[in-house]
Amino acid sequence: MLINPPNCGRSIPEEQYGITSLKQIFKGEPFSLEVLAGPLTEHEVIIFDLKCESEDAFWRAFDQFRPDIAGLTALTCEANTAVGIAGKIKQRCNATVVIGGNHATYSPDYFNRDEFDYIVMGLGKKSFADLVDRLAAGEKGEGIAGVAQTSPGKTLSYKSRKYSEVDLIDAVAPRYDLVAKYRSQYFLEQLGLAIGFVITAYGCTHKCSFCTIPGITGGKYLTHSTDSVIRDIQTLGDIPFIRMVDANTFGNLALAMELCDKIRQAGIKKKFFADVRADTIVKHPELLKNWKEAGLYAVVVGFEDFQDARLAAYDKKYQGHVITKAIEILHNLGIVIVGDFIATPEYDESDFAKLEGFITANKIEIPVISVLTPIPGTPLYKTKEKDIIIHDLDYYTFTNAVTKTKMPAALFYDTYASLIKRLHEKPHKPG
Ligand code: SF4
Repeated sequence: MLINPPNCGRSIPEEQYGITSLKQIFKGEPFSLEVLAGPLTEHEVIIFDLKCESEDAFWRAFDQFRPDIAGLTALTCEANTAVGIAGKIKQRCNATVVIGGNHATYSPDYFNRDEFDYIVMGLGKKSFADLVDRLAAGEKGEGIAGVAQTSPGKTLSYKSRKYSEVDLIDAVAPRYDLVAKYRSQYFLEQLGLAIGFVITAYGCTHKCSFCTIPGITGGKYLTHSTDSVIRDIQTLGDIPFIRMVDANTFGNLALAMELCDKIRQAGIKKKFFADVRADTIVKHPELLKNWKEAGLYAVVVGFEDFQDARLAAYDKKYQGHVITKAIEILHNLGIVIVGDFIATPEYDESDFAKLEGFITANKIEIPVISVLTPIPGTPLYKTKEKDIIIHDLDYYTFTNAVTKTKMPAALFYDTYASLIKRLHEKPHKPG
């Protein structure tokens, strides 16, 4: 049984200042679990999405299915909740409990406790499949690269995995069928359209200081074959909107072009949504033009900031002028921009005002502003560790300042919330 934890992050602005608009809600299908289920062809597998159903319903399903293995995934802000669920499972039965996901990858020691039997680190499709096969054969999961057997009170011992295309197990599709009953709940709120996820690549070509993506594949950028991506898009049937959930969709130019060509050749008529770096857009505008013709509707661009010093501190490897050029290209092509920006706890009122000025002047259709959060295990964490004042991971939702704010905290959150409200009230319509 693969388990997606419930929405569980906590909100300082809500709890301390009564600002309810900043609470982060993580929505969308539990795609990583569908991917993990793909190779488990010899086993009976179900996915339970606690973001879609109640805890009571979960325990009813659990008792009915009586899994031999319970697998949980958790972001950092979900880590404590995953521990709680695992503890209840252990009280209830003898199931082997496995944890994977972002927090397990970056902070495996966090889960070295009685509630868990195994920790899967990094891209886990192959590691988890190997572990399940071993356990089903009545063996232990020792010695599988990328898998640690827990040993509470002792140091974790495991072999690191050297990720390669083998870890993608390209030949099997994600088990979309396992979340069919939740499908009506996975839709794009702004457009009211049903949305399905596919992935074209894992990892990234870059290593921005705050980002958890590169560590998932040990710093490698691993691409799926374009045929397997077409297969997955077609498996999603008549779902009109396809979100490519890679963190960097066009990191391999030749494959990005090939996929675009194959989408057209296959006569696929859908709207696509991809994550693209600003420098990729500027270096390869023709790629974006071709993709626009193939159905690219919107791109998420992690601009993060527009000031060179901050971009350098994030190790983005480009400067502010690249961002304005990328925006111009996207607008000329009529591609909707979801622009990610980071407000740091060091922001003062003039920083928020400058950010608002930039977003407004550049007519970014869907701006998303998060608060700089040093996730344990990232390069940013090493530089910010001494400044962290909030260690409870429930607050690591990217809408809380876990390091001290330069402004009084109440004013910081009020300014942040007011900015988001104004941006939402006067959205820039797609051109
Ligand atoms: S922020 Fe984007 S470009 Fe930077 S490492 Fe993460 S995924 Fe890659």
